[in-house]
Amino acid sequence: MKDVAVIGGGFAGVAACKFLSRHKHGINVSLFDSKATTDFLPVLPDCLGRGISSAFLSYPIEDLLKKFRVKFVNAEVLALGLQKKKIMTSSGEFGYDYVIVASGSQTNFYDNDNIKRSAYKLDSVADASKISAVIRERQFDNFIIAGGGYTGIEVATNLARFLGREKNKNIILVERAGSILGPLSAWMKEYAAANLRQLMIEPILNASIERIDGENVYISGARAFNRAIVIWAAGVRTAKFIQDLNCEKSPQGRIKVDQYLKLNDSCFVAGDAANFYFRGNYLRMAVQFAISEGYCAAENVLRSIKGKGLKEYQPLDLGYIIPMANNKSCGVIFGINFRGFLPTLMHFMMCVFRSYGLKNKIGIIKNLIKGGL
Ligand SMILES: Cc1cc2nc3c(=O)[nH]c(=O)nc-3n(C[C@H](O)[C@H](O)[C@H](O)COP(=O)(O)OP(=O)(O)OC[C@H]3O[C@@H](n4cnc5c(N)ncnc54)[C@H](O)[C@@H]3O)c2cc1C
Repeated sequence: MKDVAVIGGGFAGVAACKFLSRHKHGINVSLFDSKATTDFLPVLPDCLGRGISSAFLSYPIEDLLKKFRVKFVNAEVLALGLQKKKIMTSSGEFGYDYVIVASGSQTNFYDNDNIKRSAYKLDSVADASKISAVIRERQFDNFIIAGGGYTGIEVATNLARFLGREKNKNIILVERAGSILGPLSAWMKEYAAANLRQLMIEPILNASIERIDGENVYISGARAFNRAIVIWAAGVRTAKFIQDLNCEKSPQGRIKVDQYLKLNDSCFVAGDAANFYFRGNYLRMAVQFAISEGYCAAENVLRSIKGKGLKEYQPLDLGYIIPMANNKSCGVIFGINFRGFLPTLMHFMMCVFRSYGLKNKIGIIKNLIKGGL
């Protein structure tokens, strides 16, 4: 019997378990996750403005794994001993023959304790529920989002939808770079910027949040806002146990893997945790790649056990969408540019298709219809 450990019960980890469960002869599979649920991250911003209930965005990992006959260890992984093949967790130490690291990424506060203590993040269903509650309970005049990437833009447009036509409320998007949506093409940046203008969302470019003091927020360039809330979407990095590994990593701490998603003979990496080089670029963080990498990493574990040659990971890039909550989304699907309602619809179709459990799928659809998609 070989012990296979999967670290992380997100898209990549669940896909890996699903694959391994089809070929379970002679292997014991255990999945480690610090949370008891697997969260559907792409819809989190919509809890704020579209009224999607966070109850439909999580699924108990234990229930999911019953179908796959995989053991669940609900514990945080604190360290990974690659030489000794040991996983140190908050519930003790575990050995393995093969490990798949699929622990995703999390908000990066760049070691700024003041911002970490005072700003809100959006990494999980629990985070989305917390922000939803606080913006309903407290009266803010200024809603400040740090980061002009796709998450920041989704959050900002959802807040615009939440606030509706309330007067004297400001939504501010603070971006360190000179433009929103970093490396994306010019037409998308222009389209998104025009949409933000229409929604009265103010981008402040070439700026950063310097300090948060209660409800007072100080931005570089001597601008200050009071009665303000900060939602931090200005970058991600991998888990601490990955940061501590002695191997080649990207600045975000993603592990550099080879064409087989392999770090060494007994360790494969999938999803956001993997930095995979493909056609002149590193793959972006996205659900589609997390799932296909999860399958490929699991297949390569099985091939290793059977002494077969490994399979190269061949990503299929279907495209991407920047969903905006007034339904003026934009994206590129199969190389074709889309704007407006159609990409919004495609985004939610993908979300419903990929979410776990019939109850959740129906719940998301009902909430979307009720909220006036
Ligand atoms: C707000 C938001 C919106 C997004 N929108 C989109 C979108 O529209 N389209 C798209 O393609 N992608 C989107 N993404 C990105 C996408 O969600 C990720 O690329 C994807 O979730 C990566 O999957 P993963 O399995 O690698 O990691 P995750 O899904 O993040 O799962 C990682 C799991 O590992 C667990 N874990 C982490 N550290 C540890 C530890 N130390 N010990 C134990 N368990 C641990 C976590 O609890 C989690 O369950 C979005 C992300 C966010 C945050």
